[in-house]
Amino acid sequence: MSKPKVAFYWCASCGGCEEAVVDLAEGILPVVEAVDIVFWPVALDFKRADVEAMEDGAITACFVNGAIRTSEQEEMAHLLRKKSQLLIAFGACAHLGGIPGLANLFGREEILRWVYEQAPSVANGGTYPQERFPAPEGELELPSFSPQVRALNQVVPVDYYLPGCPPPVELIVQAVTAILKGELPPKGTVLAPDV
Ligand code: SF4
Repeated sequence: MSKPKVAFYWCASCGGCEEAVVDLAEGILPVVEAVDIVFWPVALDFKRADVEAMEDGAITACFVNGAIRTSEQEEMAHLLRKKSQLLIAFGACAHLGGIPGLANLFGREEILRWVYEQAPSVANGGTYPQERFPAPEGELELPSFSPQVRALNQVVPVDYYLPGCPPPVELIVQAVTAILKGELPPKGTVLAPDV
């Protein structure tokens, strides 16, 4: 019997949620043994094209951490939704917007002005990303900066939520075990410590 296929992805995130996966330490070994990790760009050499080449629903469970702030993150959320049987909002940022969501207290132009012109740490004031100065045809273009930060379920339907900043290791283990055993609660549930 083939193993469940698992994916991890990082959107507007501090990296702490990915760190929490690594914090499973030796506990990650049985998980790695029990599943096929088919996409995890932060840790392994996977590309977006790898996901695009998969059949729809090919991923058993995809854990997405971080909120949605750029066009690339939005595209990846749609792509991973299409390719995954279960989409899990992993951590407070994907679940509710989290720390990146605080940026919604300010306008998009205000944020760009502060970051690229006014902040005391700015050394080359006024050098904006390509969004203001689009790259010439054929050159690498940066994703666009969306007007607002959104939680994952404001962009695509989400099946489960793993709360926490980051989710505690025990909760991750319980959730993965529940997925592997097919013992998940009804969809839409926020997975609590005893899942
Ligand atoms: Fe970082 Fe916390 Fe957001 Fe995870 S939930 S990406 S640890 S800020």
